[in-house]
Amino acid sequence: MGLKVAKFGGSSVADGIQLAKTKQIIEEDQERRYVVLSAPGKRYDGDNKITDLLYMCKMHIEHNLPYEQVFQVVCDRFMATQIHLGVNADLLKEFDTIGRNLKAGASADYVASRGEYLIAMLMAKFVGYDFVDTAGLILFDKNGRFLADETNRALGEELSKHEKAVLPGFYGTYPDGTIKTFPRGGSDITGAVVARAVGADIYENWTDVSGFLTADPGIVKNPKPIKSLSYKELRELAYMGASVIHEDTIYPARAANIPINIRNTNRPGDPGTMITSEEIVPESQIITGIAGSKDFTVIAISKNNMNAERGFLRRILGILEDFGIVAHHLPSGIDTVSVVVSNDNLDGRLDEVLSNISNSLKPDSLDVFDDMSLIATVGCGMARKRGVAAQLFTALAGAGVNIRMIDQGSSEMNIIVGVENKDFDASIRAIYNAFIMA
Ligand code: ASP
Repeated sequence: MGLKVAKFGGSSVADGIQLAKTKQIIEEDQERRYVVLSAPGKRYDGDNKITDLLYMCKMHIEHNLPYEQVFQVVCDRFMATQIHLGVNADLLKEFDTIGRNLKAGASADYVASRGEYLIAMLMAKFVGYDFVDTAGLILFDKNGRFLADETNRALGEELSKHEKAVLPGFYGTYPDGTIKTFPRGGSDITGAVVARAVGADIYENWTDVSGFLTADPGIVKNPKPIKSLSYKELRELAYMGASVIHEDTIYPARAANIPINIRNTNRPGDPGTMITSEEIVPESQIITGIAGSKDFTVIAISKNNMNAERGFLRRILGILEDFGIVAHHLPSGIDTVSVVVSNDNLDGRLDEVLSNISNSLKPDSLDVFDDMSLIATVGCGMARKRGVAAQLFTALAGAGVNIRMIDQGSSEMNIIVGVENKDFDASIRAIYNAFIMA
């Protein structure tokens, strides 16, 4: 029998109804033996996440404001959930302990972690699994650095004593036993860490979407889902803004070669997206997905005999580095080079950057295009296939789009084009129609 670790996100545990779906999913498959939970998320638009409310309690205390009302909202939600589930737990005692610790100046990490702690405790009773607290098992050093190997040992050893367990996500402990959280969204990391520790065959990450889509549904109507995705492709798509799961958060599972299956708690019949180390490319599939971001600026620099001038590129990058600006791309010709930077990162400092470039590099001309979008067409299936670029450019030409920049990495799994912001949607649709609908 295989072994699965199933992590459920905030929307999957938001209330009693969602928890009942989650329970059904857990019980449907005997291999789902270890379950990791986020704190309850929003139940509807405008609702609050439990974690946000808990941070708010701590902030009220820091500002000498009464926190009781906000804390009561948290307690009421857990009470309602407990009643809905019909489980027996002494929540009042738990609230009392948390309230006392809050007043005694407990850290923000401790307070925030209680959402995961409480829901995991209730859920363990609801499904009849052991509750295993991650305090003392997920370990950080005194500077807050995550101790991967020590954690792996401690968790592995403890979980070997439990046939089935529910664990809270998001937190662990410092050497002195006080609570330390991962960054926001960190229950994904806990899930991956648990998957590694128990040597899971699959790490299932249950959320409220059926995995990755081949394009943004806000631009393409009903885009096809991505059935499988390699880590490399995930990185390329995530870099360009496709967000379902952050690649860093699943690193422990990736390092242990455990495939990750993104699933939808509200549509458990959907297969979701499988993320794997190896590239599984169906013969007919050329591209895996399309992602893009708007609002980049291109600074085009030209200078006669630039290529003979030593250190030219280094000086450009040095200027950007001094401003703390990241160069996303550097397409170049013999006497020209462009740097692509994001408008956010530029943050109103374009004139200063230009004047530094002018003074230091004395270019013949300096042009700025400030309304650019970047679109990445990603797919391992593109590598060493002839005619892909031609097909891409023909599709864009057919849509009346002028391509302002082209960049293809040597791995041949990604072609990035720069187009004007106004052409962004049309470009994505054209690429989708050419490769995915075709
Ligand atoms: N509850 C935490 C947060 O809202 C962690 C998580 O959900 O992954 O960031």
